[in-house]
Amino acid sequence: MPSRAPSPLPPRGPRRRGSNLPRVADYNQMLVLDLVRRSPGISRVELVRETGLTAQTVSNICRRLTEAELIRETGRVSGAAGAPRTIFEVNGAGRYTIGLHIDPARLTFVILTLAGDTVQRLSMRTPDTPEPGAMLAEIELRIRELIDAADIPFVRVAAIGVATPGPIDVAQGSVRDAPNLPGWEDVALREDLEERLGLPVVVEKDTTAAALGELWSNPHPPQNFAFMYLGTGAGAGIVLDGEVRRGSSSNLGNIGHMSGDPNGPICPCGGRGCLSLTALPATLVGEAAARELVSPVDLGDARAVERALAELCAAAAQRPGGDEAALIDRAARSYARVAGQLANALDLDAVIFGGPQWPAMMPSILRIAPPAIAKDFLFHALHDVEVRGSSINDDVGAVGAASLAMWATTFDAPTQLFLPGRTG
Ligand SMILES: [Zn+2]
Repeated sequence: MPSRAPSPLPPRGPRRRGSNLPRVADYNQMLVLDLVRRSPGISRVELVRETGLTAQTVSNICRRLTEAELIRETGRVSGAAGAPRTIFEVNGAGRYTIGLHIDPARLTFVILTLAGDTVQRLSMRTPDTPEPGAMLAEIELRIRELIDAADIPFVRVAAIGVATPGPIDVAQGSVRDAPNLPGWEDVALREDLEERLGLPVVVEKDTTAAALGELWSNPHPPQNFAFMYLGTGAGAGIVLDGEVRRGSSSNLGNIGHMSGDPNGPICPCGGRGCLSLTALPATLVGEAAARELVSPVDLGDARAVERALAELCAAAAQRPGGDEAALIDRAARSYARVAGQLANALDLDAVIFGGPQWPAMMPSILRIAPPAIAKDFLFHALHDVEVRGSSINDDVGAVGAASLAMWATTFDAPTQLFLPGRTG
């Protein structure tokens, strides 16, 4: 398998400044494109002000981006000095990417435009056989159906981004011994999907993709946040100084053995009250089944666990103060405690919850986590920490994967901007 460097990360939010050095021209293009994407109708003058680049550099970049059909002029407005200003927006239909989020319980697909709009989505339970070959065949079929349904020319689809549980080998684009995906010992996701679909594929850890999705979709994202990802497993995506962090092997964010409950049970790892014992769906559902709060469940079947968790959360909402609510609230306190530790350790200004199991857990977490995290936050004299749900609901992993694919294929190899036969 060919080795490949990790994909470049998207730029920070609009406050980042540019450089006039020619060697970072691609970076400046990315910066201008991101500003136009986030601020439709922005003028050249405003781009100069926001980026710190010279007017000449901005003009050259706008011309190149227009020629590449990535942005377009949408008209002129009168400027303060009287001279009309040309304004720009991204060319949404100029290119599309597909985002796929593989969770053991659920597959989510989106088609994203360059403007960041989702034009097609699909969420389905994972196939009965999570065996890699059968699952990848199903994924290929669904992606082809989705492109057809969106009525998009295949040549306009630039790439596919895949968010998957770790551990991942980002250089090989493969998944290694994922604990939540039985049978996935060494699955060459990138190679297999590239062969099946004839499109470039980038692979990212689900938690990191979720943080990317939030950065991409939120017009004013916080610059330092933890994305608390709630799926079959739990993890944290970390954004610091406006950039997603990946760690040395792109597997950052394993929080399963951080303590969610100082009075909780001893974990095989030696810790006490680890998140994996106090909050994960299989744990909650297993305890609930043992106490006959839900029907017996095969805890190895992520889809059955997801169904049972939804049932348990619905019962908790029906009976505040009941046994079901006590279990869910305990999980919410555990998540809050770990998120609060991250907020203190990393000096965060926000904690954002999301992922496939977020809708079920949301009422309890939104009630418990904000005051719990605020109570233990160490830097109140300097700033607050915002606690909220993702702005893009449970599609966040797929949207993040699609946005990564957009950046990777637009800027990783500039020649890919003009692939013969792929841009028309
Ligand atoms: Zn542990």
